[in-house]
Amino acid sequence: MNRVERLRKILAEMGLDALLVAHPENRHYLSGFRGSAGWLLISRTTALLAVDFRYVEQAGMEAPGFEIVHIKGEPAVWLPDLAAGNNVRNIGFESNHLPFATYQKLRTALKKHDIKLTPTENMVESLRATKEKEEIESIAAAAALADAAFEYARSIIRPGITEKQVAWGVEKFLRSQGSETVPFDTIIASGPNSALPHARASERYIQEKEPIVIDLGARVNGYCSDLTRTIVLGNGDGTFSRIYDTVLGAQLTALATLTAGMTGGEVDSLARAAIEEAGYGEKFGHGLGHGVGLNPHELPRLSPGSSDVLQENMVFTIEPGVYVPGWGGIRIEDTVILQNGKTRPLTRSEK
Ligand code: ZN
Ligand code: ZN
Repeated sequence: MNRVERLRKILAEMGLDALLVAHPENRHYLSGFRGSAGWLLISRTTALLAVDFRYVEQAGMEAPGFEIVHIKGEPAVWLPDLAAGNNVRNIGFESNHLPFATYQKLRTALKKHDIKLTPTENMVESLRATKEKEEIESIAAAAALADAAFEYARSIIRPGITEKQVAWGVEKFLRSQGSETVPFDTIIASGPNSALPHARASERYIQEKEPIVIDLGARVNGYCSDLTRTIVLGNGDGTFSRIYDTVLGAQLTALATLTAGMTGGEVDSLARAAIEEAGYGEKFGHGLGHGVGLNPHELPRLSPGSSDVLQENMVFTIEPGVYVPGWGGIRIEDTVILQNGKTRPLTRSEK
């Protein structure tokens, strides 16, 4: 069943006539259109892609299954007539993505036509969580690029180089090897900076004997990968080996125990228990992982309390970490796929 048909099934279950799609990756996923602006209106019988002058030609080429509507201005201007003309009386909108001001104007305009606007969440995102064959191939290619970029980072890191120099080297390498724009800023965090889970690469000079967190990703055909390794130049101290073994143990436990049908919350607590046992429970302050696809962070959520059920052909990360303020942090992250009920790593860099 194609993507639009799968969405229509959910529309019918929710009693909606149509969904207005504003989120760029959701728009791309459903229509194939990769422009940076545009709206989808998908009803039970029609699939419309509304774009302004800049994108009319591109939309026609990239979204062959869609009827292209040339619009001017915001949805409050053109949506009421378009909806009424297509017998749409109850439109779902993406409440996580539609700006409040746009919503307010649109609601007022639609009211005049007696058309209802209903908030929805994650309708398209939940479809995107399970990957098709070509999507998996793109993510696998992005994962292979991430592995190559990590090897490259290792080859240029030496005492006296700055975090920023390494990050820029990695991003140039990724682009030269065929990655599209990197999905997120490359993190090179050394010494105390590595205690910040989302550190920014700084002017700090990298030194020996301190943890260096390298978190990077590539993008192929729109699809992302996400990889983290923590290394040390020379010998780490006793704390380094103790925390490294704890984090790696937690990651391997999650990878080996995870089976289809478990929830993201259950897998998170497996890894968390291993870290708590080592006495670092308080130092693992983020979730165990996240889905990876057109967005570097998407469904499913692998975090405390997540009820997202892990299913065949979902792609996600497993990334436990321990962060000790003042000393540093260690995180190990792989992008993996769930196939035949078990995880299979897509990133394969040495740990
Ligand atoms: Zn990452
Ligand atoms: Zn990640």
